[in-house]
This record gives sequence, C-alpha cells and structure tokens, in this order.
Amino acid sequence: MSATLINGSFIIAALLFILALAGLSKHETSQRGNILGAIGMALALLFTIAGVVFGTRSGPFIVTAGIPLWIAATLVLVLLAGAVIGITKALNVEMTEMPELIALFHSFVGLSAVLVGWTAYLQMAARGHFDALHSGELYVGIFIGAVTFTGSLVAYLKLSAKIRSAPLALPGKNALNLGAIVAFFVLTALFVLYPKGTGGFVLISAITLLALLLGLHLVASIGGGDMPVVVSMLNSYSGWAAAAAGFTLSNDLLIVTGALVGSSGAYLSYIMCKAMNRSFLSVIAGGFGSDGMVVSQQKDLGEHRETTAQEVAGMLKGATSVVITPGYGMAVAQAQSAVADLTSRLKAQGIEVRFGIHPVAGRLPGHMNVLLAEAKVPYDIVLEMDEINDDLADTDIVLVIGANDTVNPAATEDPTSPIAGMPVLEVWKSGQVVVFKRSMATGYAGVQNPLFFKENTQMLFGDAKERVADIINAL
Ligand code: NDP
Repeated sequence: MSATLINGSFIIAALLFILALAGLSKHETSQRGNILGAIGMALALLFTIAGVVFGTRSGPFIVTAGIPLWIAATLVLVLLAGAVIGITKALNVEMTEMPELIALFHSFVGLSAVLVGWTAYLQMAARGHFDALHSGELYVGIFIGAVTFTGSLVAYLKLSAKIRSAPLALPGKNALNLGAIVAFFVLTALFVLYPKGTGGFVLISAITLLALLLGLHLVASIGGGDMPVVVSMLNSYSGWAAAAAGFTLSNDLLIVTGALVGSSGAYLSYIMCKAMNRSFLSVIAGGFGSDGMVVSQQKDLGEHRETTAQEVAGMLKGATSVVITPGYGMAVAQAQSAVADLTSRLKAQGIEVRFGIHPVAGRLPGHMNVLLAEAKVPYDIVLEMDEINDDLADTDIVLVIGANDTVNPAATEDPTSPIAGMPVLEVWKSGQVVVFKRSMATGYAGVQNPLFFKENTQMLFGDAKERVADIINAL
C-alpha cells in the first residue's frame, strides 16, 4: 500500500479528531463532534491495519514488508473480537456506569503503552543495538503507561464502589511521590546510558515496577471529593501514554491523537481544578486536596424535616421562580425525563424554571448536561454554577434532585471539612429547599451535609424518579 495514501488518510483522520474536539465543546454540536471522531477513528484503524497487512511502499521502494497471511488473519480476528466486545459493552452500559468504564478504558491505553515499550525493548535487545533517543522514548512510555494502568484501575475500583473512596493515608505520602519522580529521572538517565545486558533488563523492570506502584499510590491517596480531577488527569495521562507509544512505533497519527487527548485532558483537569479550587500543580503531583489525614467527623447537626410530594406540589404552585440542581442521584434514578416533564408543566403554569449545574455533579464531566440533553431540556435554561449562584437568593424554591456534595454548605462554612474550599451551589440562600434522596446517607465524598438540617430545607425521601412522578400527579 502506498505510504502517501496512508499518510494522507492519517492527516484527514487527525483533522477529523480536531473537528471532533471542537464539536464536543458545545451542546449543540456535540453529536456531530462524536460522529466526526468516529469517522476519523475508523479511517485511522482501516489504513493502519492495511499498512501492516499489505506492507507500505514509497515509490518503487518497500518501506515495510507485509505480514504472513496467518498473522494477518489472527490480527483481524482479534480486532473483530475487540470490536464486538466494545460494541456490546457500549450498548449495555448504564449511564451510571460510564465513569468507571472510561477509567477501565484508560487502563487499557496504559497497559498497551507498557506492552509496546517492552516489545520495542526486547526487539532492540535481540538486535543488540540501542540508540539513546529510542531508549529514552520507550523508557518514558513504559513509565507513563504503567502509572496510567494501575492509577486507572484504582479509579475504576473507587468509582464502581468496589473499594472505599476514602483517601489512603500512608505516612509521608508526598515524600513517597516525590521520591518516585526523582527515581524516575535517575533510572531514565541510567537506562539511556546503559541499556544493554542484564543491567538494562533490571533497569527496565525497575521502572515498570516503580510506575505500577506510583500509579496505585497516586490515586489511592486521593479522597472521593477530588476524584473528578483524578479522572480527567488519568484521561490526560492516557493520551501521553498513547503519544509515547506512537513515538516508539513511529506512528505519526498515534503521536498526534495522543497529544490531542493528553492536552485536552490536561486542560479539562485545569478547568476542574479551578471549579474545585484545587492547585493544578499539586494535582499533577498526586498530593492534593486533603493531606490524607482529614477524616470527616460525624456531628450532631440537629433534626431534619420531612415533606411529601403533595406538599411540594402545593409549594410549587405558589412559586414564581424555581431552580433545579440535579446530582448523581438523578442519574441513578434515571429521573431526567420525569424532571423534564415536571419542568414543562411548571413552565406551562407561568413559573420560571432553570437548572443549576455544578461542574463536578454526577460522576463524569458534563454528566448532568448529557442527561438533560437526552431528556430534551432546552439548553438556554441549563446554567452553570457561576451563572446561577447569584440568583439563588431571589429564587422561591430549589429542588435538589439527587445532589449532595455539590450543594454542601460545609465546603464554604467549615474549614476542617475534606471538601473545604470547593465552590458549591449555594441553594440554602433561596426561600425553600426540597432535597430528593432516599436516606440521610452522605454523598460521594463521605461528608455530612448541614443543608439537610437548615430551617428552610425539607427532605423528600424515596427514589427521585418516583417522587417527581408523584409531584406531577399531584400538580
Ligand atoms: P453525590 O454523590 O454527592 O450524592 C448523590 C446523592 O444522590 C446521594 O446522597 C444519594 O443519597 C442520592 N441518590 C442516589 N440514588 C438516588 C435515587 N435513586 N433517588 C434519589 N436520590 C438518590 O452527588 P453530587 O452530584 O452532588 O456530587 C458528585 C460527587 O461525585 C462529588 O463529590 C464529586 O467530586 C464526585 N465525582 C464527580 C466526578 C465528575 O466528574 N463529575 C467524577 C468522580 C467523582 P441516598 O443514597 O440517600 O439516596
């Protein structure tokens, strides 16, 4: 296959990826962005496989030879099996399982980068020829890949609640992380200088082990409330791991794609850090948020008041302005369509209804926006936290539907709280607050919520979808 054709298709695929990212930055264009990205990926896969199977030629010269038929057939079969598993998983995944699935996918990217790095090392060792540039590339690739692999696995376990989300508090955790980074630089220099023989093997095994442990430790030491930043950070790391694999494989498209994912993930981490009032640099170093020693104390916050769907319907009838702040519980209850229905009914009665979306509501960036878009809630009434917070004091009723940490006043009122400093939706400033949830349990960060005990707050217990349906019936 002609190298020009392959390179041309790679350039088109790279442009499609850039257009996809641009499309994904706005609600209105996000579907188009997704489609462009999928076309780009199909093109990239097709020409990469064709190049490997048939070999590449530049003019009369063979650049790489094709592979034997049985290997080509096995390769295609493996790819088809992967595609079938991917499509089945994508069709069956619940919206609530998306974050953990994404974390798991990130771990695969990391593992691939490690395997690519090790393969390149074994090939170079078999030839007995190492050049400094490629040795450095593969060493860094293995390091980033292994950190991404174990870090993403821990994120997967935390997000799927298979392990506790509380931070691991090893003594001197920041010193451990710093020591690992220093060891990485020293080991890289040693490997570039002495890549051959048993010494090289020991050095490459050492960096793999060090990075696997560092990935585990970085993510395990981060508390539940700070997980959104970790997810976007691992997204970024997976991009850099892919770019490193691209350098090792001399695949320009993988380098470009990896760099796009790496830089957009880093920018997303920066936005999340700003939203959560965390330092970007300390996030990258993995030692941010709580120092690992802060444990939320259970305090006696007084009595909470309960209400019923009928009472809430009565309150809503007398209101002129309503704000809905959804959270993870809305995703669990799959209440978005019922909420959209309630919104239309209230609007039909002349009541102003708007949504206030916290940047880390739910379990992945944009989680609430996706659900509300799916339920056809108009974009112009869906506002960001910064756009709605100042209006909350003039709002009659706020309906907190399955949100907890993102409306927790402890973030602004209690400097000892693990979520202290995180900006939240200040719903308690409104006339009345109705909190939809099933119990008095804490949110993802495991922090008690004083909102539930405020004078103007009433709890509406039960599944959010059922309670919203009850209110619609009562209206
Ligand atoms: P929270 O996770 O703080 O709280 C969700 C609440 O929903 C729970 O208190 C739960 O209470 C309630 N709930 C669960 N199921 C139902 C149901 N069926 N019906 C009614 N209520 C229900 O949600 P927030 O969205 O406020 O905050 C998100 C948290 O997740 C933050 O801590 C954030 O840092 C973290 N996070 C966010 C990520 C992101 O990218 N957005 C990624 C990773 C973590 P009960 O059990 O009593 O019903």
